Amino acid sequence: MPIVRCQQCGESEDLSGARVGNEIEITCNVCGRSWLRDAEPTCPDCGGRALRATKEPVVQRARGTAYSVVGEKTTYLCEACDAGEIARRFDPLKTETSQREDPWK
Ligand SMILES: [Zn+2]
Ligand SMILES: [Zn+2]
Repeated sequence: MPIVRCQQCGESEDLSGARVGNEIEITCNVCGRSWLRDAEPTCPDCGGRALRATKEPVVQRARGTAYSVVGEKTTYLCEACDAGEIARRFDPLKTETSQREDPWK
């Protein structure tokens, strides 16, 4: 887990955090700056924290059946709820033959 540091004064210890919806607002007690920090991801189904981060390509359809990768985003899979999905993603052979995912969504 990366160290949270105040970008204004560099303080990394005298910080307080408050949960705001899905995010955490960090307040620096030294200079008073506050900012939002992404909360630790949790599974929306079971609330568990045993999540696997996976990089998903963001694709754009070009022409015909070709498409190009224009970037990537990080998504999280729950080891409890998405065990099948994790097995599929981390097994390249299964990934190639699976049609479950629609990349054009
Ligand atoms: Zn500060
Ligand atoms: Zn879950």
